[in-house]
Amino acid sequence: MSTITIDRIRKSYGAYAAVDDFSVEIPAGTVFGLLGPNGAGKTTTFKAMLGLIRLDGGAVRYDGEPLAPATFERIAYVPERSVLYDWMTVTEHIQMTRSAFKGFVPKMALELLTQFNVDPRKRVRQLSKGMRTATMVALAIARQADTLILDEPTSGLDPINQRHVLNLMINESARGATILFSSHQIGQVERAAERIAVMDRGKLALEGTVDDLKYGRKIVEGIFPTSDVPLDEFHRDTRLLRIDRDGRIVRLLTKEDATAFAARLEGMGASGVRIVDLNLEDIFLYAVSPALQTADVVEGA
Ligand code: ATP
Repeated sequence: MSTITIDRIRKSYGAYAAVDDFSVEIPAGTVFGLLGPNGAGKTTTFKAMLGLIRLDGGAVRYDGEPLAPATFERIAYVPERSVLYDWMTVTEHIQMTRSAFKGFVPKMALELLTQFNVDPRKRVRQLSKGMRTATMVALAIARQADTLILDEPTSGLDPINQRHVLNLMINESARGATILFSSHQIGQVERAAERIAVMDRGKLALEGTVDDLKYGRKIVEGIFPTSDVPLDEFHRDTRLLRIDRDGRIVRLLTKEDATAFAARLEGMGASGVRIVDLNLEDIFLYAVSPALQTADVVEGA
């Protein structure tokens, strides 16, 4: 079991800050989902966690300690791109992994490969993209590591195997492992992760438990007769997380008093006023998209 602390890490490529003062804590034994648009800095963060790139600042700690060879032994990593050798068979990869990592359970790897419908006698070059991902996931899970870092572990998998990977992650966390994974499939993140962080342009945009982020957040929406109704009083209201105006439609994002805000919109002449529950996809899109037109982001969290 490892609590992972990512503490104000920074990494630039030339003038571009790929990861910019990013901090998050991943509690031991949780399934933690990292979300973010393409290029947000997720893979760079994973590489930093594994010591594969040199940081410009900040630190990553496992149970308070920096990454050391002994810690590395306890982390299994599934990278975004295949690191399997094309000319080797899957069985040869199992043998190689066994000689490299003490805790690796070859029998478990074989069982998982059967579940994924991967024939271990095949050479990697004969495997489909999804089968390669499944093979990397099987090899990583069979390491029975304390910490699993999985960069898009369901990419290219069919829905049955996707679901299987999610179930394996949940099982691993039930065994006590700490799981960090990224995915662009928000439904999957919602299903598997207890906590999530959203990264945007290298920075933390949002973090919390899926339940806390989802429940209580509401959109109060109304349509005004004109597109220039003053919204100053809303901009001053600290209960509102965000105010969007899209032509005549005004949307207020709030964690409290949604009914009262609905009544205020009606009082100001809005019609079709409704209160909408947010799903995780809405929350993600709000976290990574700038407020529309005249709106200001009042608070990002
Ligand atoms: P995706 O969801 O598309 O996989 P990501 O969130 O994993 O994206 P990263 O791969 O971490 O994003 O990339 C973050 C930024 O850093 C991108 O703008 C990318 O172009 C840049 N970047 C990453 N690696 C390098 C590199 N070796 N040299 C230059 N720029 C890089």
